[in-house]
Amino acid sequence: MLKDLLFPKKCLSCQTWGDYLCPDCLNKLSLVKNPICPVCFRPARYGKTHPHCLKKDKNSLDGLISIFLYKGIIKKALLKLKKNYLKDLSSTLVELFLSFGGENKELSRLIRRKPIFIPLPMTKKEINYQGFNPHHLLGRLITQNLGIPFLDQAILKQAELKENSCFSEYNKAFLINEKLSFKGVSEVFLFKDIFKNGRDLRVCAKLLKQKGVKKVWGLTLALDSKKT
Ligand SMILES: [Zn+2]
Ligand SMILES: [Zn+2]
Repeated sequence: MLKDLLFPKKCLSCQTWGDYLCPDCLNKLSLVKNPICPVCFRPARYGKTHPHCLKKDKNSLDGLISIFLYKGIIKKALLKLKKNYLKDLSSTLVELFLSFGGENKELSRLIRRKPIFIPLPMTKKEINYQGFNPHHLLGRLITQNLGIPFLDQAILKQAELKENSCFSEYNKAFLINEKLSFKGVSEVFLFKDIFKNGRDLRVCAKLLKQKGVKKVWGLTLALDSKKT
């Protein structure tokens, strides 16, 4: 394609010309082999929240599915995508997510139930600064491929947060969109790029469950390896 001649791509890891992720580096991808509970971060079968963790907070996430470890080429690709809106890089990441995610039995089982995809929101200031919302961009592409519903603006974010912000700051930062009705919405995938401390996802899960949503799973492309 002409575009490839004008804007030649280099592998983000080994710098070989051709693509953002060359076949050799793709073979070295780190997958999440030991899923964790999104509440206590201890190993959990299929990423399902431990019953005792959910008992303490029934409005928390019901589970977490992350496909890649946040390191190596996936980390480089996500950092590059955050710096620049690169349509072909986002498509490559989504293709990888779909092909490796397709091997995850729990994810396939949940997708067959046609959950609604809700991307994690960003504040207007964050979107203006970054130019786009990566959770929205990647999430929408995934749902277009899978043919499942995507609901934007279900949750709004009104304040910026840091990784060390406390739980009450997270609580105040997110709001449910009262203009939407959640009647009949029973299962949701809350989608974002990386699972870090999970506070954002747990707070958003609570907002949705307070509106009557029965199951809310976190779904992320990557899992910060510090948590495993
Ligand atoms: Zn490479
Ligand atoms: Zn747990």
